Amino acid sequence: MKRQVLLIEDNDQNRYLVTFLLERHGFEVVSAADGPQGIGLAEQRTPDLVLLDIQLPTMHGYDVARSLRELSSLEEVPIVAVTSYAMVGDRERALSAGCTGYIEKPINPETFVGEVEAYLARPPSTAPEGSR
Ligand code: MN
Repeated sequence: MKRQVLLIEDNDQNRYLVTFLLERHGFEVVSAADGPQGIGLAEQRTPDLVLLDIQLPTMHGYDVARSLRELSSLEEVPIVAVTSYAMVGDRERALSAGCTGYIEKPINPETFVGEVEAYLARPPSTAPEGSR
């Protein structure tokens, strides 16, 4: 069965790039352009991993992360924030909002899929919440 990634990202180019890279490596990608749509998809699909842009319209990425963590079906699912390299404070805030970790923007096509794989390979209980 294909592993399914839910991508919540408002930027068309980033959404295209991430989808392309993941599909090329055999993932199924479902995507949403804002938080409320992403939360709806998460409820319907229970993805294996969520990639969450932090700077989103209508609902901030931190709030999206908190809402996703409130879904019992998503308790154990890695939520990986995608944060701008320049936004240093975003990382800590993303972790305290329930994200498992983060990947920096701009996306590096050479390393991106490997980073996603690493989050999927990690048993959920290896690290205390927010320790990364
Ligand atoms: Mn954005």
